[in-house]
Amino acid sequence: MRKALEVVNLNASYGSTSVLHGITLHVGDGEAVALLGANGAGKTTTLRAICQMLVRTSGEVKLFDQPIRGKATEQIARLGVGHVPDGRGTFLALNVEENLRLGCFARSERDGVEQDIERIYEYFPRLKERRTQQAGTLSGGEQQMLAIGRALMARPKLLLLDEPSFGLAPLMVKEIFSILRRICHEQSVAILLVEQNAGLSLKFATRAYVVENGRVVLGGTSDEVRSNDAVRRAYLGD
Ligand code: ATP
Repeated sequence: MRKALEVVNLNASYGSTSVLHGITLHVGDGEAVALLGANGAGKTTTLRAICQMLVRTSGEVKLFDQPIRGKATEQIARLGVGHVPDGRGTFLALNVEENLRLGCFARSERDGVEQDIERIYEYFPRLKERRTQQAGTLSGGEQQMLAIGRALMARPKLLLLDEPSFGLAPLMVKEIFSILRRICHEQSVAILLVEQNAGLSLKFATRAYVVENGRVVLGGTSDEVRSNDAVRRAYLGD
């Protein structure tokens, strides 16, 4: 399988605090991969380091064989990386459709914007119903949908999702993950998913990595990771 993302020996630090120590992982073209780990393990920092956001990094990051480390965050977005950060990054004072249109900033050609907005409304009918509603008045789940929709407006080849289930009711989580599965299959968008909810991520992803103290300590198919005793005890509550 062609690699959408390849990360080799990635180190990252905030100022003088070193947080990632040689992370190596990959995501295949159109594949969904989960990154599991406890609070503070370095999952969010891994996504930030891939996008060159807020952290100093060394190591190698390639998107479809093209090195992207060292490029500015905006250039990385233009090369096809859509980052949906924790906290979601939605413009709360703008309405739903204005937020979606802002998602176009990272695409080279402006044709097809209206069709893309309609495509996102097909995935997220709730957003269509609320297209003129101010984002700040949406529910948490609807804001998460909007953040994903906005990232999709850039036509990414790889989506980095940081805790999309955080703070949401179980039914909303189910709805969002079933839409993400469709997006991954129908649009062939690769996904690197960070989640505290290990059970959910292992159902969603075909492979997973476990991060502890800034290092990958385990990687494999979701079935292999799920059947690991340490994972069962630490993350699946068995
Ligand atoms: P969580 O699920 O709790 O967000 P995480 O696995 O995503 O955990 P990170 O957010 O990547 O973990 O944090 C890894 C380490 O980096 C933690 O020790 C954290 O305190 C530290 N850290 C995160 N952001 C910053 C920052 N902006 N400045 C300094 N240290 C930071």
